[in-house]
Amino acid sequence: MKAITQSKARPCWQMVVGVLLGISIGGCNQVETNRISTEIDGQPRVVATSTIITDLTQKVGGDEIQLTGILQPGVDPHVYEPTPADSRVLETADLILYNGYDLEPGLINLMNAAGEKAHKVAVGEVVPPLQLDEDGEIVPDPHVWGSAENAIAMTNVIRDELIKLSPADEAEFTQRASQLTQELQQLHSWINQQIQTIPADKRQLVTTHDAFQYYGQAYGIAIAGTLIGISTEEQPSAQTVTRLVESIKKTNVPAIFAETTINPALIRTVAEEAGVKLAPRELYSDSIGAKGSDGDSYIKMMEANTRTIVEALGGKYTPFQPTN
Ligand SMILES: [Zn+2]
Repeated sequence: MKAITQSKARPCWQMVVGVLLGISIGGCNQVETNRISTEIDGQPRVVATSTIITDLTQKVGGDEIQLTGILQPGVDPHVYEPTPADSRVLETADLILYNGYDLEPGLINLMNAAGEKAHKVAVGEVVPPLQLDEDGEIVPDPHVWGSAENAIAMTNVIRDELIKLSPADEAEFTQRASQLTQELQQLHSWINQQIQTIPADKRQLVTTHDAFQYYGQAYGIAIAGTLIGISTEEQPSAQTVTRLVESIKKTNVPAIFAETTINPALIRTVAEEAGVKLAPRELYSDSIGAKGSDGDSYIKMMEANTRTIVEALGGKYTPFQPTN
């Protein structure tokens, strides 16, 4: 497992300065990522676990909530080990929005121990799960955001929970959720069109871990193989690697994919042994990209992934241009 370097958190300076001076400064809608206590005007404190849920929550909640995202871009939620700072954040939360289906086991355990005060909602569990066989055990697949339609369902849950938390802000939450939903609907259609540009026999995904079932099902691209299952903790055996190499050779895929949250060394070896390319761009699997990257929001991550897939598998990519 690659040691993952966390990107430097960008504090919301206006807000921090405002708190230091004891005043409230409006117009600052960045996510609080620096864990500085910023109690402002009694705003409800919302904590989100994954970067994807943090992004959707920030888009719906805007300035009306005090949002802390625990996981940082590029960090693997499956193996994340919570820190004492996470415990403090969860202890003071009014609402905890997490993915569920055991995407983030370390944080779910901590949340159940430390987040007694908070109302807890498994946002991703609004989606009926696809089942996966994980070492002989059938488990729900947690990577529900792979379909933009599922992200709409998650957005609705977030909106409803924020309204319950702060009824006075219902109009703002509803308006922002509606705007986001429109954009997600356009994203959904756009991804469908993009995948259709890939020659039919090449619409097959081979990735490092099993994170693209929902994407594949939603957009008509088969999952032709993965190096490891849902849990990124395990290390594939030599036989697994050989089996994957053999199955890639039988497919007609020109390229296979590394992922931003997982060490690419093994999948690179698989590509070499199977005689296919490793796509030049990595897929954002379980996290959005770092600030300033081409995947630094949920929508941009889905756009970037679609671009990566379409370009590597012989389709014709045209940029996503939402019309709002
Ligand atoms: Zn995953």
